[in-house]
Amino acid sequence: VRGSSRSGSFLLLLLLGTLTFTLARADEVILKNGGAIQGRIVSEDEQKVVVETKAGKVTIERARIREVVRSQARPQPETSPPVAPTPDPAAPFTLLVFGFDGADRRLITEVTRRVTTALGPRLRITPIAERPKPDERDLIDKRAEHLPAMARSLQVDPTGSPEQLAARLRAALQADPRPEVRQYEAVLDDICRPRLAVARLEAQAAASAGERLRDPSVLGVVGVTGRDISTPELNFLFGHADRGLRAGVVSYLRFADPTFDVVAHRAAVQLLSTTGVLLGLGRCEDVTCARAYPKNLAEHDRKQEQFCAACRRVVDAALAPR
Ligand SMILES: [Zn+2]
Repeated sequence: VRGSSRSGSFLLLLLLGTLTFTLARADEVILKNGGAIQGRIVSEDEQKVVVETKAGKVTIERARIREVVRSQARPQPETSPPVAPTPDPAAPFTLLVFGFDGADRRLITEVTRRVTTALGPRLRITPIAERPKPDERDLIDKRAEHLPAMARSLQVDPTGSPEQLAARLRAALQADPRPEVRQYEAVLDDICRPRLAVARLEAQAAASAGERLRDPSVLGVVGVTGRDISTPELNFLFGHADRGLRAGVVSYLRFADPTFDVVAHRAAVQLLSTTGVLLGLGRCEDVTCARAYPKNLAEHDRKQEQFCAACRRVVDAALAPR
């Protein structure tokens, strides 16, 4: 077996961008950040548009919308009078956090505590009681994309269906007694594991938060899962957020470690990074900053449970009393 540096690239990720998901004959709300939300517009007023998506209702602020494209002419949706906001300018902001069904509650409690410590009193993290089952539609399957390349690098016949190819690769690896071959079995398991679509989970997170996202002091909502997450373009992600939806998702699957504190630290760094996106932070060049862009777990482990000074200034400004 040859090619360990090449097959290393199978493991690696990429992340962050705005995502869309498709729905036939849908209205479309195009966001200023380039994203789009498809579904049926069920209500709208001067401040917001409510879209019924496959994953539930999503409320989008007008300020984030570039254009509303309606699927066809039909009666205008019912308009409700604008709600007069009565924000307390000194009140802290709120981040809503929940675990998808199956996620580790103890871990989420510890991660929440750590991120609260890192961000200080201007952001309050509020748990949402719901634990929705992750939306399993459009599971992302990376086998057809990666198995032929793995077969070629291991000099195994690369033809056939993903099932045939996976079985052939597994048999070839199991027949090879060398200890260094064992890592390829982990790579094979990784490729064969179906990923949840982050756009689905983010729409679900926004739906779970529901009307609470209309409160201007609510920064957004983040759902935590122990399952693998991805997009069609990327191999896997540790986390992602869509600022237009004000929703994000964090996966701790790839943070696995025998030590609870290590997993909690890694997940806290990721929740901090995902929260940073909701606060308006871009990627950061400082490799120790929570908003750095890691290509693998080793790079993720260089990040600290805090923002660099430059990112911290942006965060402090975003969380300042209004
Ligand atoms: Zn930074």
